[in-house]
This record gives sequence, C-alpha cells and structure tokens, in this order.
Amino acid sequence: NLKIGVVGLPNVGKSTFFNAITNSAVAAENYPFCTIEPEEARVAVPDERFDWLVEHFKPKGNIPAFLTVIDIAGLVKGASAGAGLGNNFLSHIRSVDAIFHVVRAFSDPDVIHVEGELDPVRDLEIIHQELRLKDIELLKKYIDMGEKSLQKLGQGGNAADREKKDEMVALKKVLEWLESGKDVRKGDWTNKEVEFINQQNFITAKTVIYLANLSEKDFARKKNKYLPKIKAWIDENNQGDMLIPFSGCLEQALSLMDPKSREEHLASLQTTSALPKIIVSGYSGLRLDYFFTCGPGEVRAWTIRKGTKAPQAAGVIHSDFERGFIMAEVYNYNDIRELGSEAAVKSAGKYLQKGRDYVVSPGDIIFFKFNV
Ligand code: GDP
Repeated sequence: NLKIGVVGLPNVGKSTFFNAITNSAVAAENYPFCTIEPEEARVAVPDERFDWLVEHFKPKGNIPAFLTVIDIAGLVKGASAGAGLGNNFLSHIRSVDAIFHVVRAFSDPDVIHVEGELDPVRDLEIIHQELRLKDIELLKKYIDMGEKSLQKLGQGGNAADREKKDEMVALKKVLEWLESGKDVRKGDWTNKEVEFINQQNFITAKTVIYLANLSEKDFARKKNKYLPKIKAWIDENNQGDMLIPFSGCLEQALSLMDPKSREEHLASLQTTSALPKIIVSGYSGLRLDYFFTCGPGEVRAWTIRKGTKAPQAAGVIHSDFERGFIMAEVYNYNDIRELGSEAAVKSAGKYLQKGRDYVVSPGDIIFFKFNV
C-alpha cells in the first residue's frame, strides 16, 4: 500500500490541506476495505477514463484508484537532531513513498510563523536541510558498520566481500553528494549505484511535490509575490520537482460545501480547486499506474507499479491469478473510446491475447485467464 506524506513547518497549512482532502474523500468510506485512520486519508484519484468506463459498462459497482495521504506533523528546525517530535517524525517520513512539501506563502498576522517573518525560501531551506541531515546521519552509521565488517573479513576476496566493498564505494559517493548540499534523487547514478541506493530508503530519494499555500485572493488571481522566489529556489536546488500553488483556506471551505454552493463559490472567484491536480500528481509521483477490469458486475481500477508484467498485474487481483496465469486478454481504453464498444474493438482486431512477458500499458483493460 503506497503512501504520500504531507510535511512542512508548523502553521503552514498542512492540517488544513489534509482536512480538505479527508472531507472530499467521502467516496473512500463507501469501500469496506478502506480503514480510515485519523492521520491517514484515502482519496479517489480523479480519472475521466474511469468515469467514462463506468458510464459505458453501467456496472453494479465500481472501485476507482486511491491515493493514501499521511499527515506527518512535527518537522521543525533541528528535527534531525531530535528537536520537536524529532525521531518519531523521521520514522514516519521514512515509511512514505513520496512527499507533499507544504510551504507557506500567505501572510496573516493572526497565524504565527514559527520562524518569525514570512519567508518561504528560508522555510524550504530548513526542511531541505533537516531531511538531508537525517539521511547523512543514518548513512554515516551504515558506512561505519560496513567498514568494520570489512576489516574483520580482512582482505577476503569472495563475492560477498567484493559486493560489500562496491557498496561502500558507492555509498561514500552518495555521502559526499549529500554533504555538498544535494538530495539523493537529484544525483546521476549508475545502475549499480541505484541498486545500493534503493536498499537504503533515503528520505531525499523520495519524489517531492511542493505545494505553495496562498491566500484565497492570491490563488484566484494567480499572483503571489513569493511564488517566483519559490520557483527559482526549486530550479536552483531541485530542478525538475513540481510546484503546485493552492489555497488551504479555499480548499477547506470548498470541501465543506454542497456541490451547488461549491460551483457558485468557484464561479464568483473565477477559479477552480487545485485538489484534483495535486492528487493526480501525487499518484504519478509514486510512479504508479493502473489497469482496469470491466464488466457488468464491476468496473475497477487496479494499482500497479509502472512497468509491471501481466502475471504480476494479475497477482494484484488475487495471488491465484498470478500462480495459475495462462494469458491476459487485453485491449486499451483508447480503442474502446474510439470504436465505441467491446465488440467493435474485437472486430477491429484490437482485442489481443498476451503472455507472461507482456508489460501492462497505462489504460489497459484486461481479462485474465488462469488455472485454478
Ligand atoms: P499546520 O500546523 O501546518 O498543520 O497548519 P494548519 O493547517 O493547522 O494551519 C495553521 C493556521 O493557518 C490555521 O489557523 C489555519 O486556519 C491557517 N491557515 C491555513 N491555510 C491558510 C490560508 O490559506 N490562509 C490563511 N489566511 N490562513 C491559513
């Protein structure tokens, strides 16, 4: 079960954002397998393909893809050294697969800023620094242990020793990179180095999506004096990471309105909610994808990692499907959308039989055949 964590300094709007997501996630409660924890929200991933398939097949039931969002409180300056909730916080953040980094860009004299003046770039620096320091600390310990075990082995030349040596060389390179002020995900690593890196669960290796919390007014007029500075900071320090402006106050208000008031409110501000974009970006930040199963009983989106092969995709539905995998009957959403029906897809020769090596494509609609 893959998760995205919400982090940021205190009072930047994390809970407000989290509540807006939770409130708008009414759908999740209709699904019995979704346990709802106080600090955890499951939200349906908006997808017009899914909506179209439900409309087309008119199934008895439907289950969309979900994103699990975790509220991670307690990150303050000095957290890596144990300040605030310190290590508790850090173990939470190590358990998520990607990060929403909320940064405050609204001024409000009634909302105290923990670091004094409003200064989003300083805030970005603080969090960037704390997360990196934690990676450095854990990596140093790991390297120390590794070197000691190598000393014990002497100059042993077996394959395991050589592997350990290679690992130490690679990780020392990562340590240098971190100490030079950079995040692991921004490094240019060889495949071998990536293997070692993947075993470490570095915080700074996780995908980050920056969410700039603006006042309702700034959000609606798409203007805020800090946004260009935040953008420039990201370009300089973590080029390629995504920045999405939103307004915590607005989203929370919207999430409490009935659909009609919502529309009126948005129309009066001439704007739209940023939540769908945030959720979709979070989902793809996890490098997830999904395929569909469609029939009169149910239309359902199944979550897989990008690049998953047919038998493993079948295993997401049930382990028996993977064990007894015979073949996958596959066509794509684009084909049924274009041709209008499953029958038309078949007569166009686009309803295909695929074997074990087939890599599932985004938007595939699959029917698995398997031995029981
Ligand atoms: P957290 O500590 O990061 O979880 O921050 P909260 O979500 O609890 O927000 C801290 C305070 O800022 C609360 O009083 C919120 O009502 C307020 N707040 C959150 N988002 C906005 C916003 O977009 N504009 C304004 N003016 N206040 C906000």
